[in-house]
Amino acid sequence: MQGTQGNELEVLLSAEEIAGRVGMMGKRITLDYENKPLILIGILKGSFMFLADLIRQIDLPISIDFMALSSYGSSTKSSGVVRIIKDLDYSLEGHHVLVVEDIVDTGLTLNYIYGHIKSRGALSVKICSLLDKPGRRQVAVPLHYKGFEIPDEFVVGYGLDVNEKYRNLPDVCRLVRNTDE
Ligand code: 5GP
Repeated sequence: MQGTQGNELEVLLSAEEIAGRVGMMGKRITLDYENKPLILIGILKGSFMFLADLIRQIDLPISIDFMALSSYGSSTKSSGVVRIIKDLDYSLEGHHVLVVEDIVDTGLTLNYIYGHIKSRGALSVKICSLLDKPGRRQVAVPLHYKGFEIPDEFVVGYGLDVNEKYRNLPDVCRLVRNTDE
């Protein structure tokens, strides 16, 4: 598949595969959180599409909130620097929290978020990530709900970007050749 902006892309996970898996995750979460006040926290920007699809598969009264952190910027290499750009709008007290992430790579971002959210008085904090690249992990983070394990390759689409491009692709694609670098 040839990207529209000069980069070469190959489909790794199709929209149909993603929808099937997200449906299963939503059903599991529905069973696990029945009668528990639940807030899902989306980590911007990459998780917005996954969060939007996931919450429509959760048959419970839920709330959502968002956090934004510094991540890759314009490069495909992790800087390891984590900084809060947008913090939570609501208190977490009296709620169970599910952190919704697009992808766990080194684990540095989620490790930071997990500690930050756990200090905010939630009844419980669990992590849900669509994608997991276990081969690149530097810090162990508990992944309670996981969509797919993928190889150590840079991916775009379904919310994930390179230099802010490709977030609108319906599939998760490998970036075979990045002409922007
Ligand atoms: P970590 O802190 O685990 O190394 O990185 C997590 C963040 O890095 C993700 O939320 C995502 O923004 C970005 N990231 C990691 N791997 C990829 C990838 O393959 N593609 C894209 N587009 N972003 C990635």
